[in-house]
Amino acid sequence: MAQLQEHDAMICRFCGNEERASEGYPCHDCGTFLCVMCNMRGVVRCRACQAKAEGTAAAIPPRAT
Ligand SMILES: [Zn+2]
Ligand SMILES: [Zn+2]
Repeated sequence: MAQLQEHDAMICRFCGNEERASEGYPCHDCGTFLCVMCNMRGVVRCRACQAKAEGTAAAIPPRAT
């Protein structure tokens, strides 16, 4: 039988570490995997989304809502 071993490790898209997917969190913006270690440090976005968020943080447009 070619049953796959359970492998729930995923690469964190912020720090690049391989962590357990079951303990990770999705990126706030795009939903990609972030590890629990980054989440504990307050990371809620992957590197790409974080860069975008920081890039626009200096000029936050006023929101009507
Ligand atoms: Zn991480
Ligand atoms: Zn993202």
